[in-house]
Amino acid sequence: MGKIMLTGDRPTGRLHVGHYVGSLKRRVELQNTGEFDNIFVMIADAQALTDNADNPEKVRQNIIEVALDYLACGLDPEKSTMFIQSQIPELCELSFYYMNLVTVSRLQRNPTVKSEIQMRNFDTSIPVGFFTYPISQAADITAFKATTVPVGEDQLPMLEQTKEIVRKFNSIYGDTLVEPEILLPDNTACLRLPGTDGKAKMSKSLNNCIYLSEEPDAIKQKVFSMFTDPTHIKVEDPGKLEGNTVFTYLDAFCRPEYFKEFLPDYENLDELKAHYTRGGLGDMKVKRFLNSVLQAELEPIRNRRKEYQKDIPYVYEILKKGSEKAESVAADTLRDVKESMKINYFEDQELINAQAEKFREGEAKEA
Ligand code: ATP
Ligand code: MG
Repeated sequence: MGKIMLTGDRPTGRLHVGHYVGSLKRRVELQNTGEFDNIFVMIADAQALTDNADNPEKVRQNIIEVALDYLACGLDPEKSTMFIQSQIPELCELSFYYMNLVTVSRLQRNPTVKSEIQMRNFDTSIPVGFFTYPISQAADITAFKATTVPVGEDQLPMLEQTKEIVRKFNSIYGDTLVEPEILLPDNTACLRLPGTDGKAKMSKSLNNCIYLSEEPDAIKQKVFSMFTDPTHIKVEDPGKLEGNTVFTYLDAFCRPEYFKEFLPDYENLDELKAHYTRGGLGDMKVKRFLNSVLQAELEPIRNRRKEYQKDIPYVYEILKKGSEKAESVAADTLRDVKESMKINYFEDQELINAQAEKFREGEAKEA
């Protein structure tokens, strides 16, 4: 069986560097290996509405922002099918059937959903749609028979939930769905990139992001006000690396060649870290270096985005074509699912014949 990739992002804002190192960069690399039979990249507007029901305009406006970020990062419409979730009604139908295979207590145990509920102050007013979004994500993944899902660590519980649904479905109804494999970033700093405020996760909802399309001045300002080691006060003081966001970002973004280009006094990141922990290296110097690294990484992305921004109708055309292709694939899977569940009555000639026979027999007895 061939390899199929599926991933997606919620259109709740422009994409940030956490998305990039956690998933987007990997998608582009995998796309360019040519190893995949099919690649699907979904703008998850229906999922975004589960906690933005009162603000559909926000979701609507951000679809193009996410699409532009995709193209800017190198997703290629010739190789990857980019589509909009809400345009694929089959996904809702699949979710509806999967709901019967998951218990409420199982959903309540999902650690990512738990922390997201807390973050959104839902307390006792959790929308049912939000609570059940791991099921809808299982529909998204299985609809395309995805084998590979490159995502950040926060998605681990979703993939576990999906695998459970696949196993349960296949054991009840027969082999139909494909069990996906999660592909986490190799670099541990990228598993869950912290926010510029040092909080556990850079997230659109937390306002602690460096966006992929950020202008140079804004990048600089965000890097310079970044969280470091609060006990590293004087340059001579020894500094801590743990929880030091500037170093976490260097772990995530720095390439060896940047030292020659921007900080030739050091051979590599290990040397820089050793100096910092020993004492005698100021935060400003490290921040200036990180700023140069991020500027170098983001400049080509920002420039490509500006090119695509000149032709917005073309970008919508890409999404429309992608959605048409995605729907035809999801429709095939839905047909398989309904056949396995034996709810394809009109195509089931055996059922019709058997029942015709049953009622003929009944009449014969009566007569
Ligand atoms: P929201 O706050 O609206 O949930 P988000 O910033 O969490 O937005 P998502 O659209 O939920 O972004 O996530 C899209 C993809 O990016 C997922 O694969 C997720 O694992 C990855 N991702 C998001 N934030 C990070 C991060 N800080 N570090 C690594 N990966 C991330
Ligand atoms: Mg999220």
